[in-house]
Parts: sequence; structure tokens; C-alpha cells
Amino acid sequence: MAIPRLPKSGSAGSAGFEVQNPGTIEVRQVHKSYGSLEVLKGISLQCHAGETTCIIGPSGSGKSTLLRCMNNLESPDLGHIELDHDVIGFERNRFGRLMTAKQKHVQRQRMQIGMVFQRFNLFPHMSAIENVMVAPRTLKGLSKQAARDEALLQLERVGMIDRKDAFARNLSGGQQQRVAIARALAMRPSVMLFDEPTSALDPELVGEVLQVMRDIAAEGMTMVVVTHELTFAHDVASRVVFMDGGRIVESGHPSEVLMNPKEERTINFVSRVF
Ligand code: ADP
Ligand code: MG
Repeated sequence: MAIPRLPKSGSAGSAGFEVQNPGTIEVRQVHKSYGSLEVLKGISLQCHAGETTCIIGPSGSGKSTLLRCMNNLESPDLGHIELDHDVIGFERNRFGRLMTAKQKHVQRQRMQIGMVFQRFNLFPHMSAIENVMVAPRTLKGLSKQAARDEALLQLERVGMIDRKDAFARNLSGGQQQRVAIARALAMRPSVMLFDEPTSALDPELVGEVLQVMRDIAAEGMTMVVVTHELTFAHDVASRVVFMDGGRIVESGHPSEVLMNPKEERTINFVSRVF
């Protein structure tokens, strides 16, 4: 069972939100190839309830592929991923044995995992609030009023309530990404995955998105964040994972991996990016 953690002191979320159901996600010996290219070469990783794990590493090292496996957008060739100790893509029959999951079960697991991409992909001709309401309406079957209430709560949480009626295309990149975060939160996931959420933003817009992510982490969400923002990783992560060539080269507390790395490849990467 997931053990809720108290928010870290001094940084309660903007809307005073506390995550009630943070999940645990565990990657076990995952291999993944595209044709003859082995992209993940045996990845194992534990992300505890309420903690933030930051994944860093050079382009092409397999970070996005790992997140896509965690979100069930890809299936590992070998190994598996567990969400709250249930294998993703499988379900237990009445004898407790794992069976390939029915579509409904896969959908339910997927709804528990929120994902935020580099490109926010909002519907440009819909307002911020309409964008946030779509998934709760269509996937969860919420009434219009319930979806609206949920969207208002989540827009408040990311500091976008004042712009709720603006068309997405009229928002800045940072504002769009905050709406995209609200959209993911509106499904009430137990884990949030972020794949380079600030890489497509102009530098002056990065800070507002990172601040929202800090707030959500402080509220007790389980987060896995692929990022090149090493200051964010240093301040927020419980664990930093450095990947290169489809393997985890080094992982541990940010004070170790970022400030005192042991492996040559980590030292080189960190000194280039910091
Ligand atoms: P990162 O996110 O660390 O930059 P990716 O996971 O995107 O790395 O990619 C790792 C490697 O896998 C790269 O060499 C990339 O070209 C390859 N790759 C990723 N997705 C696919 C795909 N759908 N088909 C073929 N090759 C892919
Ligand atoms: Mg990537």
C-alpha cells in the first residue's frame, strides 16, 4: 500500500493541495529494442510514493523510451514495470496468476499515470479550461459540471485560473505547459511522468513551469522527471538517475550524483550541463 507522505516543509502547494494517493512505480530489468537497436539494456529503478526521481543523461540514451514503457505506450521486450505492485499490462485472475490485461484494465492503469511532454499539444482553438475538461469527460465519464469543478481546481493549482477562458493558442509556452500539467492532474493520477517539460520553452518561461512542478512535488505526488534542469533536480529530487547508452550508469541522492559523481561519464555530463 502506498504510504502518503507529508509535504516537505515550507513549500506547501499554491492551492494547499495534498496528494492523497501517491503511487509506487518499479522498473524491473527492462529491455527494449527497435529492430536491431537495443535502446534499454536492463533498467531497474524504484520510485517510491511521494518522491521525485529525476532522470538525466545525453540525448539518445533511452530516457523517453523508458518513460513510454512506464506509461504503457510501449511494452518492454523483457522485464516489466509495476504500478503499486501490479504489473503494467497484466492483471491477476481469480487464482492470483498474471494474465495479459484486458483493454479496460490497461486503460485504468494508464489513467493512474499522468504524462507531460516537451510539446504540450493542447487543442489550440479550445480554452484552457476546455482543454483540461476533455479527458475527465471522455475517459472518466464525469458530468460537465464535475469536470468543470475539477478543471477549476487544477487550474488554480498551476496558477492559471485567471486565464481559464483564454484560447490555448493565445497563451505563452509556459502558460500552455502549466495548462498541460493541469490537464494531466485532472485525471487524479497517482504518478506523474514529465519528459523534458521545459526543453521547448524560451528561457524566461522555464521558471514558472519548474515552480509548479516544485509545488506538486511538495504536495506529495510521485514524480519521474526527465530533465536537463540540474538545479531543479538538485533541489527537488529524492533520487537522481544518470542514464547513458540504455543503462543506468549511476544513481543516488542528488548530493552524490550531481555534486560528487563517481563515474567518468557522469562527471563529464554533469560538468557540461551544470
Ligand atoms: P532520449 O530520450 O534519451 O533522447 P530516446 O528514448 O528518445 O532517448 O531514444 C533512444 C534511442 O532509441 C535513440 O537512438 C532513438 O533514435 C531510438 N528510438 C526511439 N524511439 C524509436 C522508435 N520508435 N523507433 C526506432 N528507434 C527509436
Ligand atoms: Mg527524450
